[in-house]
Amino acid sequence: MKTIELSDKLSISNIVYGMWRLTDDQDTSAGHIQNKIEACVEQGIDTFDQADIYGGYTAEGLLGSVIKQSPQLRSSIKIITKCNIVAPMGIHSDKRFKYYDTTAGYINSCVERSLKTMNLEHIDLLLLHRPDPLMNADEAGAALDALVSSGKVTAVGASNFRPWDFNLLQSRMQHPLVTNQIEISLMQQAALKNGDLAFLQQHKIIPMAWSPLAGGAILRDSLSPLSLLMQQIGEIHAVSPEAVAIAWLLRHPAGIIPILGSNRLDRIKQFGQALQVNLSTEEWFGLLEQASGQPVP
Ligand code: NAP
Repeated sequence: MKTIELSDKLSISNIVYGMWRLTDDQDTSAGHIQNKIEACVEQGIDTFDQADIYGGYTAEGLLGSVIKQSPQLRSSIKIITKCNIVAPMGIHSDKRFKYYDTTAGYINSCVERSLKTMNLEHIDLLLLHRPDPLMNADEAGAALDALVSSGKVTAVGASNFRPWDFNLLQSRMQHPLVTNQIEISLMQQAALKNGDLAFLQQHKIIPMAWSPLAGGAILRDSLSPLSLLMQQIGEIHAVSPEAVAIAWLLRHPAGIIPILGSNRLDRIKQFGQALQVNLSTEEWFGLLEQASGQPVP
């Protein structure tokens, strides 16, 4: 597995395992989650993506119970988490409306809660989950800088930011924002054309791609023209159609890091396959065309 350097202090695996769907699994025991983590680590996937809000503010606690029962795991994994969404559920069930909170006080309280909930001494990467129209960039930027300087967080970044949101926050910070986690997949190609990936490449910032299989939608109809093409290309390279969809992201020059979210151990054990494939330019454009339904002009 290739390792990607996000900053001089943080390198992560080229594929990340996302824990958004952890609570959708029938088995949420610490033992089962540990099996999933170990299936990743065995392939060199050492980075796990969380957010305080996942599982209605419970998914971090599930990971925390694994770390509590097997503290030796911590030194071989990196943990990403996110904050700023306040949704009326779980710890926020007293709220009436969903909103974003990017005040220094709220960011700091989220970090303290995430550290405690996941049984961590530090968070490897903290992201602001969504751009907040009410964000005071000076205040949020200073809070993120202080968290990095204190060592509670190794690095910071953004999620779902457009280039202007990213520039605004970065302009008020000393430490670099090391990634932007955005939706990219064969079925969500906007970032390839709307300037998001060009902006990140220009500034040498590595993107992370959430829902790289479009939440499974890419694969649900095995007879769709896109599925059939992924199967054909998969046969040529001796990999699964899923691996072809991930290889399509890996082929992009921005250095995209896909975050996969399957709960099935058999699928998790195959995640690394995607790295064995180097799609030809013709195959890459064929997939682009089939998925978008638009002929390459
Ligand atoms: P994904 O890998 O695109 O989708 C995973 C889903 O696809 C699972 O439900 C999985 O079902 C299904 N799937 C996988 N292979 C399949 C197949 N061959 N046939 C049918 N279904 C299949 O990723 P995701 O879970 O949507 O997102 C990944 C991660 O991105 C999340 O865990 C989270 O960490 C992150 N994320 C971030 C944001 C953000 O705003 N920053 C937003 C969304 C997600 P099984 O479990 O049955 O395999």
